[in-house]
Amino acid sequence: MAYVITDACISCGACEAGCPVGAISQGDDKYVIDANACVDCGACEGTCPVGAPKAE
Ligand code: SF4
Ligand code: SF4
Repeated sequence: MAYVITDACISCGACEAGCPVGAISQGDDKYVIDANACVDCGACEGTCPVGAPKAE
């Protein structure tokens, strides 16, 4: 299990600093989550202004 960032992402960067394990980084057209690092805490879902991160 891991969170994924959907195409709704507007690349604001707000979620990156809030991830406790540094699993979020900027991708080509949206931010991305490293599924192997994500610990499913849900912090990014709460931080995102557009609801882009979803539990997979
Ligand atoms: Fe990071 Fe938590 Fe979001 Fe996973 S669910 S990417 S650990 S903030
Ligand atoms: Fe994208 Fe939401 Fe993260 Fe901003 S907080 S970079 S919109 S996933």
